[in-house]
Amino acid sequence: MPSEPTTPGPPSPVKDTTPATPENPPSPTLDVVNTDSDTDHATEPSDGSTAVSPPSPKPSRLPHSVPPKQSGRRPAPNVREPMSPLQTRLLHPRWAILSDNTLSAVARYVSHHDVRNIIVMSGAGISTSAGIPDFRSPGTGLYDNLSKFNLPYAEAIFDIDYFRRCPRAFYALAKELYPGNFKPTLSHYFVRLLAEKKRLLRNFTQNIDTLERVAGIDPELLVEAHGSFHTAHCIRRECRQEYSQQWVKDRILTGNMPLCTTCHGKDAYVKPDITFFGEALPSRFFTQMQRDFSRCDLLIVMGTSLQVEPFASLIEEVSLKTPRLLINLEKCRTGPLAGKTGFDFDGSWHKYRRDALHLGTCDEGCLQLAELLGWKEDLLSLHGSEHRQLDGSPKKQVPVAPLSPDGRRASVGIDEIVAEVAEKLTLSEKP
Ligand SMILES: [Zn+2]
Repeated sequence: MPSEPTTPGPPSPVKDTTPATPENPPSPTLDVVNTDSDTDHATEPSDGSTAVSPPSPKPSRLPHSVPPKQSGRRPAPNVREPMSPLQTRLLHPRWAILSDNTLSAVARYVSHHDVRNIIVMSGAGISTSAGIPDFRSPGTGLYDNLSKFNLPYAEAIFDIDYFRRCPRAFYALAKELYPGNFKPTLSHYFVRLLAEKKRLLRNFTQNIDTLERVAGIDPELLVEAHGSFHTAHCIRRECRQEYSQQWVKDRILTGNMPLCTTCHGKDAYVKPDITFFGEALPSRFFTQMQRDFSRCDLLIVMGTSLQVEPFASLIEEVSLKTPRLLINLEKCRTGPLAGKTGFDFDGSWHKYRRDALHLGTCDEGCLQLAELLGWKEDLLSLHGSEHRQLDGSPKKQVPVAPLSPDGRRASVGIDEIVAEVAEKLTLSEKP
């Protein structure tokens, strides 16, 4: 779940770039003598090529010399065309981290530089092909289909204060979204393949569907930035008893309210550990952010439009010379106004050309990248065998109307709400 702006954001060690603007076009000459503090990166070419020395500024005329005659015509404005990517590469090889902004360039970089510390930042877009709706798509997104709950506003379903007062809407929705109803996508298995190839440093995911775990990605390699259904806790601050996913799921699926059996409070709801608005992000998010991003040698962002902080700002945490690939249906966080290290797919204003873009679905992008890396068969084979295994695994038998361990039956039924939300939401029920 997204976090509110009150959640402490990551520090943003801005190291570089005076953004160009239409009024102030990028100037290679000035960039050479730029004032960034990333001098340790900037002084030595990474590929052993000779660094380009800054040209000496030549005075237009000697002091005390006679000023040139005015011709009567206005002098031509000193407009400098931005350099093309090829020009940049030829003139300033140390600036061109990627040869261009394509998947091919990324694949070449991975091969030539023996990339081993890839960070994947993933969002709802990697799960949509599994049938899970994203949150914000107009018309089909989750937030646009919650009107029947009479919520004060759509996001209230994930608001901790609203949940304390009225948890039924969330439980009804959770029943539909519960992990186990969906299978991981090709994109999830691409991340797992990176791990199997010893190339994955970490997968930071915004998703709460736990499909990364279902796909077999080692939880140590995961940072579930907005929590997940994997564990749950009693919401009473003085209790906080932990419960398993299965314990909560059994109750939700049978229409019983998951009430804490330790403190027996009448409002002691047991809530899956997904981060609601008004709650802090898991501490693991911040500790791993500080440990991982300085070591990252390739950042892959996929299936997210980077609208939710502090997750979105993570793209600024890698070194200025670390290549970044966005696989998404649309561009996002581009241009100088998107932040000092927003994406620069055209190579027009960053000092280092290091951003690549694939516009399309995550599954397409991952398959193409796998093919370029020579891993296509591995990916398809992994995806096929894992899905066959999931299809063949026996379905869990959910007991009918169980009582709580203390013999209490939950007082509030949610079946009617579940039926209502199932009808309103276009969620595909997977076997
Ligand atoms: Zn409790």
